[in-house]
Formats: sequence, structure tokens, C-alpha cells
Amino acid sequence: MSIRSETLAGAGQLGAFDLRDPPDLEGIRACVHCGICLPQCPTYRVLGEEMDSPRGRIYLMRAAAEGRVGLTPTLVRHLDLCLGCRACETACPSGVPFGRLLEATRGQIARRAPRPLGERLLSGALLGLLSHPKRLGWALGAARFYRQAGLQRLVRATRLLAPWSRLRALEALLPASPPGGDGPLPEVLAARGKQRGTVGLLLGCVQRLAFPQVNAETARLLTWAGYEVLVPRDQGCCGALHLHTGRIDEARALATHLLARFGREVDFLVTNSAGCGSAMREYPHWLAADREVEAFALKVRDVSELLAEADLPLRRLDLTVTYHDPCHLAHGQRVRLEPRKLLAAIPGVRLVELADSDLCCGSAGVYSLLEPEMAGRLLEWKVQRIAATGAGVLATGNPGCLLQIARGCRERGLAIEVLHPVELLGRALPETEGIE
Ligand code: SF4
Ligand code: SF4
Repeated sequence: MSIRSETLAGAGQLGAFDLRDPPDLEGIRACVHCGICLPQCPTYRVLGEEMDSPRGRIYLMRAAAEGRVGLTPTLVRHLDLCLGCRACETACPSGVPFGRLLEATRGQIARRAPRPLGERLLSGALLGLLSHPKRLGWALGAARFYRQAGLQRLVRATRLLAPWSRLRALEALLPASPPGGDGPLPEVLAARGKQRGTVGLLLGCVQRLAFPQVNAETARLLTWAGYEVLVPRDQGCCGALHLHTGRIDEARALATHLLARFGREVDFLVTNSAGCGSAMREYPHWLAADREVEAFALKVRDVSELLAEADLPLRRLDLTVTYHDPCHLAHGQRVRLEPRKLLAAIPGVRLVELADSDLCCGSAGVYSLLEPEMAGRLLEWKVQRIAATGAGVLATGNPGCLLQIARGCRERGLAIEVLHPVELLGRALPETEGIE
């Protein structure tokens, strides 16, 4: 710590930050400015600006912590443009915990650098919608009417929303067909055959409403893999979106509720949403570190990790498949091999690698709605690379990526199915009565 910031810390301040969840100085100082992370950073690749790179953003955090710069609109803008994809963490040889530094800095910005009213209302409305299943259910009901009444076709054909980029981005994410699924899952699903363990299934806010078939297939595959599956009611939200947008206290409250709902009796907590899994593994950092929270975080598994160890009776699917790494699975949880292993294990599937498979697609939580221009440029790159694979199916394990990439492929007329890996595996699994 520099002399200046030590002095300021003594006065209840850390430069421009206060002492309520400030970014960790040790983490900031771990950056040796080598620049190895720069080519991996999507915003640096698009803009070529040092201040829109990980190194530049860490420099800004350090300058703020040392009181050399305030939480100015310029600093805020460079941090807003960050996707929080954590590709820089994977690349960094010094172990800089960029995701946590970003979230802490955003927390300070959210509390101490007021934004224009319109921006505050928009981000509050998006979080209030996406993290409340009931409200999201109503919104999706309205979207269903919008689609069925032919309004969607009209709005898209006339480019009515062209002047409002954020509204257009939101509308463009709406799928052209309604979600599948047969209603809520039972609270307990029995394992098939010899039981290997008991898992708790996180339903996820967006996943459970926009992709209920993904949760249904996740549960079915887990039972075939020998797990009893518990699906606690009233799970609420894991808090990931709140954490990524700097609403740390709200994220803590949601995480505490989730912890209480899952209890202690499960062997693993399974997610099929990369963003949720990544946030849940970080709970010990954000909640008061105690053994219960640490034990919870250690039990978190992406569904692909458990299924990759199982011996599933899969039938043949003759398909060429490519795979996009969700940032919060590849970088946030370091899970890369298991989804590929699972997909390649389906007889008849030819798995082709996607160039820059772990480059962010631009979804990044609510980023694609708040920063549609950068998100659109990244989506364009992603779709070009997907088209080059010649695959008939793109698989990816995060609802935001599913929506974003499906949108990109749809808009460019690319005839490709965009599926969660468990949907593809489910097709290869023998049919079962109901959810069984
Ligand atoms: S989190 Fe992603 S966008 Fe942000 S600095 Fe790191 S690599 Fe760049
Ligand atoms: S790779 Fe790590 S140490 Fe090097 S500039 Fe990036 S964040 Fe700093």
C-alpha cells in the first residue's frame, strides 16, 4: 500500500473508496503490468485502448485506491465497458483476482458515484425482472402474446425499435418460439439403479422460465447417472446478476436465502447455468466466511462435471456439433473439458472446435442490454466463427449465451440449432415416462 493510501485508510477512506467492501489492495498490487492478458480481453480486442484492457482497468482501480483519481465518469465508463468475463484471470500469470476486484469496484461505484436517473431505473428494472421468477414469468407471458399476436414479426420487419438500441437489444433476445418443458419439477426425483448420491438442483431465474426443458433434462440425466435429485421450492435467486452490477448487499441477502433453502443434506449442488455456478463458488468471499458457507461452495458442480463421470446409455445422433465456452464456466469455474467430453461421448456426434471458443459472446448477464453496441460487435465475431465450423448444432451451458447466440444466428440467417449440452444428451437418452 502506498503511504498516501495508508494515510487515507486510517481516516476511514481508501483513496476514492470507502472501507465497505473496497477492492483488495493485495489483488491490485499483484498486477505486474506484463500485458499477457491484453490479447485475451474482448474489449481490448475491439477497441485497442489501454484503459479498456484488464491492465488499464487495474491501473484505474489502483489510482482510485491511492487517491490519485476519483470515481469520475471516465473511470466509471471504462469499468462499465468491462464484460466481467474473467478471460484476463485465466491468462494472468500473477493470479490477479480480476473478477472480485471488478465486483468490489462496481460496488463502490453503485453506492458512491450516482448515475443519471434513467440508467439507475433501467438497471434496477432489469435486475428486478430477471431475478424474480414471478415477474419474469409475467413478462414472458406478455412476450408470448406479443409473438402470437404477430407483433414480433411486425416490429422486426418495420425496424420500429431502431432508434432505441437497448430496447431493440431486449426485443431481439426474445426467442421466435415459446420455451418447452412440462411445468414444475417434483421436489424429489429418485435415482435410477444403484444410488451414487443426492444432489440439490438450482433452477436459476432465467433458466427455469426461459429454458424449463434444460432443467427437466438436467434432472432426468442426473437420475440416470444414479443421483437422487432434490429440487427445493422457493429457491429465489443466487445473486449473480446483483454481484456483477455492484449490488453486493442484495447479492448477500439472496445468497443467504439460497443457502438456507438447500440445507446440508446434499452431496453436491448442481447448476446448469454457468453464471450462477460461478457466483455460488464465490460465496465464501462475499459472505461472512464460516464453515457452512465454505462447505456449500465446495459442493457446487456444473452438471457437466457430474455427468462426465457417469456411464449413460446413449443412442446414436448423427450430428456435427460445436461448443462455445461460457465465460463463467471456462474462466469463472475452470470447467472446459467436461462439456466437450460429454458431447463427444454421444455416438455419431462429430465435435468440431470453435475458434476463440472462450471469447465472450457479449451476453455477460445484463451487459448485452446495457451495452448493446459492444455486445453486438462481439456477437458478430462469435457468429462468424460459428458459421465457419459448418456445425448443425452449437452447444453452450449458460442461458444468457443461449439467448444471445441464438439471436445472432437467427439475425444472420444461420441454420443452426443452439442448445444446452443437456438438451443434446437428453435426445440421446432413452425416452422415459414423465420426468422419471
Ligand atoms: S473481465 Fe473480460 S472484459 Fe473485463 S478486463 Fe477482464 S478480459 Fe477484459
Ligand atoms: S496478465 Fe495479470 S499481471 Fe499481467 S497485466 Fe494482466 S492482470 Fe496484470
